[in-house]
Amino acid sequence: MQSRWNDAEARAFAEDDLAMRVYTSRLLGADEDLVMHGGGNTSVKSRVKDFFGDEIDVLFVKGSGWDLKTIEKPGFPALRLAETQRLAELSELSDLDMARLLRTYMLNPSSPSPSVEAILHAIMPAKFVDHTHTDAVVTLTNMPSGEAVIRELYPDCVVLPYVMPGFILAKQVYDALREHDVRASAGIILLHHGVFTFDDDARAAYERMIELVERAERYITQHAPKAMPEAKADVNLLDLARIRCAVSKVRGRAQLAVLDRTPDAQGYASREDVAAIATRGPITPDHVIRTKRVPAVIEQSPADGVPEIAAYVEAYTAYYNELREETHTMLDPAPRVGVWRGYGTISFGSSLKECRIADDITRHTRRAIQTAEQIDKWEALTPREIFEVEYWSLEQAKLNKPAGPPKPHMGKVAIVSGAHSGIGRAACEVLRDHGATVVGLDLNDAVVGEFEAAGMLGIACDVTDDDAVRRAIEATVERFGGLDILVCNAGIFRTGERIEAHTADTWDKTIRVNLTAAQRLITAAAPYLKLGIEASILIVASRNVAAPGPGAAAYSVSKAGLTQLARVAAIELAPDGVRVNVVHPDAVFDTALWTDDVLKRSAERYGMSVQEYKTKNLLKVEIASRDVAAALSALASPTFRATTGAQIPIDGGNDRVI
Ligand code: ZN
Repeated sequence: MQSRWNDAEARAFAEDDLAMRVYTSRLLGADEDLVMHGGGNTSVKSRVKDFFGDEIDVLFVKGSGWDLKTIEKPGFPALRLAETQRLAELSELSDLDMARLLRTYMLNPSSPSPSVEAILHAIMPAKFVDHTHTDAVVTLTNMPSGEAVIRELYPDCVVLPYVMPGFILAKQVYDALREHDVRASAGIILLHHGVFTFDDDARAAYERMIELVERAERYITQHAPKAMPEAKADVNLLDLARIRCAVSKVRGRAQLAVLDRTPDAQGYASREDVAAIATRGPITPDHVIRTKRVPAVIEQSPADGVPEIAAYVEAYTAYYNELREETHTMLDPAPRVGVWRGYGTISFGSSLKECRIADDITRHTRRAIQTAEQIDKWEALTPREIFEVEYWSLEQAKLNKPAGPPKPHMGKVAIVSGAHSGIGRAACEVLRDHGATVVGLDLNDAVVGEFEAAGMLGIACDVTDDDAVRRAIEATVERFGGLDILVCNAGIFRTGERIEAHTADTWDKTIRVNLTAAQRLITAAAPYLKLGIEASILIVASRNVAAPGPGAAAYSVSKAGLTQLARVAAIELAPDGVRVNVVHPDAVFDTALWTDDVLKRSAERYGMSVQEYKTKNLLKVEIASRDVAAALSALASPTFRATTGAQIPIDGGNDRVI
């Protein structure tokens, strides 16, 4: 662990106490081994002028929802210092009352809620207070010999046994301040929890944290010198999709399943003793909110329905029933993390962000567990102590807050072909906005960079290349765990060739792109879709199917064939719950096909203005790619859960179709 302090950088934050607090908080946040994802908190005591111009003492303390890595001044709500300190004198205070009182001491009521450790920060006898859940120190405390090792390493610190965070911890520190000369100590070590350092100087408080952590790291290097085991194995993707399906079902909605198959993760998952060591508990109890107390351990080749997930739910329910109190509401019993024997660790979540957080924590937990096992033995807090944080009143209160309606495709994975522009692009964006993780395939390799910038995954892929299609589907499952929505949209349109002049090139290419490629996509995707959640295939056909026109035989035939393919697929896949529906768009002019020039010429042919031409349908509406995309997203949603094999015109009304 190295100090990241930099004089030149620090000078830019020298304007006031809070700016300096922002700077060293970010230094702490920059190191994943110190704090992760909203963990840790910092504060500074300062003076500000209130509304009347009177100077008052305040505590700026990290607010909830902020991350130390990226924190800014508004991330530190200001609390009246004297009142906040006085709360520590109470003999009892529920955490809900504490949170409510702290909010009344805020100078600005629209600031974020202050950290649950605000009282503790307020009573610490120094201007700058830094708190982390650093891996190295906490790992050492999670061993039977942990306390002895810590006392030997930190004779100059105050070492306190584990208690619940919040008011109880503030009270413990309040008592310690009376018993020990805390000010003269190098810091406070909280067993199974973390480290506090403090000083009137920001740099000194920060660098003391680094120094204390470094001592633990040195100890680990000496006593746990062996490298972590590594392994390398190819994964059966259908098994991964099967695991994801089982977890989604117990969660009650689609979950992404992000497999970490790095050599390090596979090495851990290949250990003979992994089922024993992985299920003793987390590094610190606050991880329980992200990862639950323990992961599900899944056999190498899970049987149908993945019985390990059912067993996990049963064990979680028993844990809840044993430890619950009357007022508790049970959380869903689905695992957030899996250890898949031989293949790595899996994080489950409704969004990639949730998965990333669970994955980061799991990576650190793997290392902590294996380190402790080398030195002594991994021993986490008891299930009861973990339960108390998982079912903390402050966490339970969040359940009662009204949430907006959930996004219909949260946790689902969608593949869209012909994704770079037009209807395909709009479909990607609408599905993404409705919560799906979207993979777009396109011949145009600009799809890669543009999709990344838009929070999606673009894969350059010629849909007429069978191998490329199969690889794209496998890459999707490997990355997100499965597949729920397939939109067959890629298509070409060559017009102006009447049947007697139709070239073999136009005919063959049109059939290959519009029809055969869709068959290849469906055939390759079907095994995964059968393991999908609310699985749907969506076919973008054409008004030409019901109402063909002259000069586009190949196009009309390909789309009619595509429609028939969809009807057969609807019948064949219905027993597996995969729905197949068709949309027939017409006159969607905001696509790459329709340049201003083409539009003008077409309008002239009909003796119309461009605007008249664009709206030549019964409803006189202009149809946009977004209209088609919205219909596709709705068809894939539970609104249409009882509909398969349907064909929906999106053409503004056409008397030949009606
Ligand atoms: Zn803490």
